[in-house]
Amino acid sequence: MGSLIAALASYCEAKTNNGQWLLRIEDLDPPREVSGASQSFIETLNVFGFQQNEKVLYQSEKIRQKAYQKALEQIIKGGHTYNCACSRSELKNTNINEHKCRSLNTLPNKPYSINLRVPNRDITFLDRIQGTYTKNLLNECGDCVLQRKDRLFSYQLAVVVDDSFQNITDIVRGIDLIDSTPWQIYLNSLLNYQQPSYAHIPILINKTGQKLSKQTFAKEINQEKSLETLIFAHNILLQKPFVKTPKTLNAFWNDAITHWNINKLDNIQSIQV
Ligand SMILES: [Zn+2]
Repeated sequence: MGSLIAALASYCEAKTNNGQWLLRIEDLDPPREVSGASQSFIETLNVFGFQQNEKVLYQSEKIRQKAYQKALEQIIKGGHTYNCACSRSELKNTNINEHKCRSLNTLPNKPYSINLRVPNRDITFLDRIQGTYTKNLLNECGDCVLQRKDRLFSYQLAVVVDDSFQNITDIVRGIDLIDSTPWQIYLNSLLNYQQPSYAHIPILINKTGQKLSKQTFAKEINQEKSLETLIFAHNILLQKPFVKTPKTLNAFWNDAITHWNINKLDNIQSIQV
């Protein structure tokens, strides 16, 4: 349901502005991929009537991997990275200012990650739902991994490279990703990319305030009742209730897009379902 409301909000926001809605599969970690999961995700979106404007972009594609490598080399060349072979527990117990790898320029003789060395700088952006958001890169965000010890590219790096590649102007996504945004804005600036606008929608929580997830027994969305499920998701997003309940998917999308108002979510961080 969390994924569905993110898809619904971004789709309505794109379509109500005569924009395009793109679908990207962020399959950066092949060993952790559940076989067939991406395909069934795409099929579910199609059953619900979502129509992406371009062909689906897979981050695992060779050409994308090459693009991430090129961007990484550019950031390394700019002197914004360091190599780190520390273990997870070592990092946990190390204050960022005492992390020795940050000031070294060596090639460790064991597997190492390539990390972004963030400056002591505030990043501020105006989120279209959450308002002004400021975080200090050094003191509040910390460094982020660009390439992992196993040579896989990180989400933070791949996302900015693809947002630029796909000419993304507007990002509408769950507020659980808002903490990644300062890194992405900083990476955009290092790579001379355009800054997109951001709108972070609330997350869904249960009655005890926990985020809905498989662990909290969030129900899988019901494909058989796609219309009812969409109307439910539409109401969760605090949109004006339909005057007449749509009887078909087409009618739903027409009404939902025509009356979509992202400002109904202003300053809301979580919605209880
Ligand atoms: Zn280290």
